[in-house]
Amino acid sequence: MKRRGQRCCLWLALLAATAHAQDYPIQPQPVAADSWAVIADTGYFTAANGGFLVNSAFIATGDGVVVIGSGPSRAFGEQYRRVIATTTGQPVRELILTHKHPDHFLGSQAFRDVPIRADERTTAMLRSEADGLAENLYRLVGERMQGTEVQLPTAPLATGMRDIGGHRLEFIAVPGHTQSDIAVFDHTSGVLYAIDQVFNGRTPTLPNADIASWLQSLARLEALPFTVLVPGHGPVSHDKEPIRATRRYLQWLDATLRRAANLGLTANEVMALPLPAEFAGWAEARDEWRRSTGFLYGRYEQEALPALRP
Ligand SMILES: [Zn+2]
Repeated sequence: MKRRGQRCCLWLALLAATAHAQDYPIQPQPVAADSWAVIADTGYFTAANGGFLVNSAFIATGDGVVVIGSGPSRAFGEQYRRVIATTTGQPVRELILTHKHPDHFLGSQAFRDVPIRADERTTAMLRSEADGLAENLYRLVGERMQGTEVQLPTAPLATGMRDIGGHRLEFIAVPGHTQSDIAVFDHTSGVLYAIDQVFNGRTPTLPNADIASWLQSLARLEALPFTVLVPGHGPVSHDKEPIRATRRYLQWLDATLRRAANLGLTANEVMALPLPAEFAGWAEARDEWRRSTGFLYGRYEQEALPALRP
């Protein structure tokens, strides 16, 4: 009897450990009154992190919770929804999708009962690209994507000011990281949800980047009178330094790729170039440099062609 009891306990413990292992480590961090950020791992997509490497946030206004980003999978979205309910004790009123990257919107199935907002351009891109983006994440993350399907936006997201439950929220167009990105500035709490326009201690990802517009958007964000900054990746900040560091990285990357193209270096040679000390210590520094060179170097080579012609 005793042995059977022990076996039963062992089995239960194993089951609990398995359930725990499959849970995402979602720990909301208060950033201001009624406002939380969920800070993720800063690595790359793996089965172990289940794709949880993007920050999200929520604001408990006096008129329901505004959620910014739904995370990488259905399982994440469902768990996130429960965490939001426990943390705020309020119903969710709407979900904001800031841009088209899959790790920021594939948890949206868990928010089907509320408006899922994205701006017109992002919605159009998601209509044609979302299945491919989701497939790519399935390939990288595997099992924890199970049951995840693309949930398209169901409501418009206009730029400008909206007063919601005592919070004055400004939705700002800040393209550059992708063709269309929206930042949210809460004038009431002073929190700027810059999302993927700003990376903090984590190397920026540039598969859809337009560096010139990204730099303009960073100038716009830097001018805002915020006191707390929630980046898309990396820890929360209380100053403008992550904006400036993201700018320095983009400027260095742009200048380095241009110089390399003018010298006629091959993509492989560019990928092997040394990284400045400031950026070499950032998470995923070497891998993102390789990926960015792959995405962008062709454009620089095209631009350099006339100069290289005899
Ligand atoms: Zn992104």
